[in-house]
Amino acid sequence: MATAVGTDVETLRNHVGGRWVEVKATETVEVRNPATDEPLARVPLSGAGDVAAAVTAAAAAFPAWRATPPQERTRPLFALRQLLVEHQEELARLIVTEMGKTLADARGEVQRGIDNVETACGTPSLMMGYGLEDGASRGIDEEVVFQPLGVFAAITPFNFPFMIAFWFWPYAVACGNTFVLKPSEQDPIVMRRVFELIEEAGFPPGVMNLVHGGKEAVNALLDHPTVKGISFVGASKTAAYVYERGARSGKRVQASGGAKNAIVVMPDANMDAYLSTMMNSFYGAAGQRCLANSLVLPVGEAHGPARERVAEAARALKLGDGLEPGVDLGPVVSAGARDRIFAAIGAGVAEGAEAVLDGRDAHVPERPKGYFVGPTLLDGVRPGTAAYREEIFGPVVGMSPVASLDEAIGLINAAEYGNAASIFTESGAAARRFRYEVETGNIGINVGVAAPVSAFPFSGAKRSFFGTLHPQGRDAVRFFTESKVVITRWTTGDRGPITGVGR
Ligand code: NAD
Repeated sequence: MATAVGTDVETLRNHVGGRWVEVKATETVEVRNPATDEPLARVPLSGAGDVAAAVTAAAAAFPAWRATPPQERTRPLFALRQLLVEHQEELARLIVTEMGKTLADARGEVQRGIDNVETACGTPSLMMGYGLEDGASRGIDEEVVFQPLGVFAAITPFNFPFMIAFWFWPYAVACGNTFVLKPSEQDPIVMRRVFELIEEAGFPPGVMNLVHGGKEAVNALLDHPTVKGISFVGASKTAAYVYERGARSGKRVQASGGAKNAIVVMPDANMDAYLSTMMNSFYGAAGQRCLANSLVLPVGEAHGPARERVAEAARALKLGDGLEPGVDLGPVVSAGARDRIFAAIGAGVAEGAEAVLDGRDAHVPERPKGYFVGPTLLDGVRPGTAAYREEIFGPVVGMSPVASLDEAIGLINAAEYGNAASIFTESGAAARRFRYEVETGNIGINVGVAAPVSAFPFSGAKRSFFGTLHPQGRDAVRFFTESKVVITRWTTGDRGPITGVGR
C-alpha cells in the first residue's frame, strides 16, 4: 500500500548519472522482512520526471561509451565479477532478508548472476559481425556489423531480486548501450548494494542507472522516446501489457511472463534417484520460481508411489527463517502473497481436490509474525479448474493423474503457459517424444528445475514469453544490438590499376 514519506526507516534513492539522488515523487512503499514482519526500508515510487532524469543521464553517457572499444568496455565487468564473488555472502543475506528464500537458495541466485557477468565478459567475441568478399556480386563485398542502439531498460520481478537483472544489463552495456534498471518495489535493497559495487568496478557515470518504483515508473520507461528497448520479467498479465505498450511506442521488447509448469512421472521413473530434484522444483524458494513445477501428471500406476513419496518428503521439510541453518522452506514474500496463496488452496479444495498436505496449518513459533505457508499437496486436481490452470506462485503442488504419456503431452500443450516441463522416466523413447512434442521453452529430462545456464537462452513460450530473443547469452547480445549490413564496391574507373599496393 502506498503512503506518504515520513517514517523512521530509510528511504531508498535512485542512482542517476553516477550519483545517488533523492526521488522527487513523494509516494513510497514499505519493504518488510517476510520472516519477521520488520520494516527494512521505504521504496520511493518514481514518477515520470525521475525516470526522465535517469534516461537523460543514460543518453548522455551513450556516445562516449559506444565509442569505447569492446575489450575496454568489458573491463569493469571483469572487476565487478571479482567484487561480486567477494561479496557473495553479503548479497545472499540481503536477498534472504528482504525476499525470504533460504540462504542456500540465495547463494545460488547470486552465483547465477555472476555466471551472466562471466558470459557477458565474452561480448567482444559474441558481438562480432561477419562478412563475405564478393558476397553481393563480383567485386562487391558484403558484411554485417552489430551496433549498440542507445538506452535500454529492464523491469524485474520480486522472486529473483538479484539474478534477473543480470540476465540483461551486463550484455547490454558490454555491447555499448547504456542502461536504466527498475527493480521490483517489493525487494529492491540488494540492488542498492549492487550499484555501489558497480560504481566501485569503474563503469563511467550514466552507463548504469537505477530507478525505484512501480507502475508509474514502468509506464514512463515504456513511453519515453529515447528508450530503445525494454526487457521485462514478471506475471503474464504485466508482460503482455508491457509488450504491447512498449511496441506501441516503437521499442523492441522481450517480456517473460508467468508459468504453470508440469512434471510427468512415468511408471518407470527412478524416484529414488530423482525425488530430491523434484522436491527442489516443487518447494524451493517456497514455490516462487518461474521454473517451479507446480503440477504433477503421474502416468498410470506412477500415481500412488508419486503421491506417497512426495507427501513423505514434503512432511520432512523444515519451515522457518531462511537465514537459520537447516531451514528448507522460508516464508513467502509478503502477507498479501500468503493470503492469496491460502485462498488458492481453499479454492482448490472447494473444487474437489484432496489436501494431502495443507500449508494453511503452518506454524513457526520462533517467527510468529512471518508470512509462512507450509508445503501443500493437492491430489486429484482436475484439468479446467483454477488450481490446475492458474499460477499460484507458492509452495502448492497439484497432482492430476493421467492414463498415458499422450494424455500428459496433450494437457501440457493445451495450457496457456509454456515456460517449462519435465519428464521423469528411464525410457529414451518416452523422453525423446517429450522433448520433440512438448510446446514449452525449457524441458527437463530427469531434471526438476530446467534452468538454462548463462550461455543459453532462458527460453519460454506462449503466455510465458512475449518476443523473439530471450534473456542471457547470444540471444541477449542480439537483442541489445542492431545488425547493420554494409555492401561495398570500389572501382578504379579510368584511372587504371591500383599502384603501390603490393600482393
Ligand atoms: P509482477 O508482474 O507483479 O511485477 C513485475 C514488475 O512489473 C515489477 O517491477 C513491478 O513493479 C512491475 N509491475 C507490476 N504491475 C505492473 C503494472 N500493472 N504495470 C506496469 N508495471 C507493473 O510480477 P512479480 O509478482 O514481481 O513476479 C512474479 C511473476 O514473475 C510470476 O508470475 C513469475 O512466474 C514471473 N517470473 C517469470 C520468469 C520467467 O523467466 N518467465 C522469471 C521470474 C519470474
